[in-house]
Amino acid sequence: MRIYIAGPYTQGDVAANVNAAITAAEILAQRGHSPYVPHLTHFWHLIYPHRKEDWLNLDRVWLSQCEAVLRLPGESEGADIEVELAKRLGLPVYTHIDFIPQFVGRADLVCDCKAVLATNVTPRDAIHISEAHIQHKQTWFVTG
Ligand SMILES: [Zn+2]
Repeated sequence: MRIYIAGPYTQGDVAANVNAAITAAEILAQRGHSPYVPHLTHFWHLIYPHRKEDWLNLDRVWLSQCEAVLRLPGESEGADIEVELAKRLGLPVYTHIDFIPQFVGRADLVCDCKAVLATNVTPRDAIHISEAHIQHKQTWFVTG
């Protein structure tokens, strides 16, 4: 899946924020996804500075082409706006990298506590997972 990574950039430690976004992208790429990392314009900006709005516009064009959003933890007005945009576009927003399904097609989501959280879902479905199950380790099982 094409996954947009939304997370803090200027709030807090910029270097740590960029590192977190790239690390999430690396994990997603290893799982067969195609992440978009808006934080990478950090380096583009070092060579060719642009207005903040220009970067936000570029990011939003790519967000609209993604199939899901991963919202990294941490306060961020920009990431919150991106999550709102994703919801308006009908894209699923995941709040933990391990909730992003690795399958293509339909599957059941079964928690490690054996509870069935959702049945016959596709990677595009937004699935609400209660706090109790978030405490458990999540595993996706492919059916059929
Ligand atoms: Zn559980």
